[in-house]
Amino acid sequence: MAQVTLTNVKKVYFGGVEAVKGVSFDIPDGGFCVLVGPSGCGKSTLLRMVAGLETISSGEVTIGNRVVNQIGPAERDIAMVFQNYALYPHMSVYDNMAYGLRNLGTPKDEIDARVKEAARILAIEALLERRPKQLSGGQRQRVAMGRAIVRKPQVFLFDEPLSNLDAKLRVQMRVEIKKLQRALGVTAIYVTHDQVEAMTLSDKLVVMNGGQVEQIGLPAEVYKKP
Ligand code: ADP
Ligand code: ADP
Repeated sequence: MAQVTLTNVKKVYFGGVEAVKGVSFDIPDGGFCVLVGPSGCGKSTLLRMVAGLETISSGEVTIGNRVVNQIGPAERDIAMVFQNYALYPHMSVYDNMAYGLRNLGTPKDEIDARVKEAARILAIEALLERRPKQLSGGQRQRVAMGRAIVRKPQVFLFDEPLSNLDAKLRVQMRVEIKKLQRALGVTAIYVTHDQVEAMTLSDKLVVMNGGQVEQIGLPAEVYKKP
């Protein structure tokens, strides 16, 4: 599958903001990396560069043996789950999940099989005809994950996916995300503010501050009291 490697990655935004100032680390194939740090420290920027949604000013991101800077969106083998779900409000759940595959030109019966398989895994089979506004927050987040897994990505990126959910649902979805990641064997990078999420999800914890990596290690090491 795919190891993700960042080598001296920098991002300078138009206007001169240095959001990421030379970050290097790797996530082994099938690993779960959580990025934490104060607001504005560059977590989202870093994630978006891995996703190819943001240009990389200098340095390199590789996924498996491919350099992200040099490949198009269709080859990236990445799926991203956002905090606000980013579902299309006018489309059914089915169409939301099928949309990306249709754009890639995947054959229709293959799309159908993948959407139904994802719906089964996420227990949203009964919701396929609904629109996003007819769903609860947790159901929307499942649809967002379904839309990600139908692409069979090698790498899963999460940008604070649970922060709009209530506490009880957050715990439940956290467990489900971890199970899903293990079952699919994907490599995950997960941005959060929540220390409990960071502790329970990660096998590699990266603490960022001011656009740089401040600490990196197992969660128990990083959160160990001095
Ligand atoms: P975090 O996700 O850790 O909150 P971000 O990656 O969103 O941090 O932001 C890092 C820095 O880059 C901040 O100073 C932010 O204001 C700045 N920034 C983010 N996006 C842009 C942009 N599109 N243009 C200019 N500056 C940006
Ligand atoms: P089109 O009208 O573009 O030919 P269809 O709506 O007939 O496409 O869909 C083709 C297949 O996709 C159907 O056989 C069905 O299994 C599946 N499908 C389409 N929409 C849904 C849906 N909302 N829920 C479940 N399956 C669907």
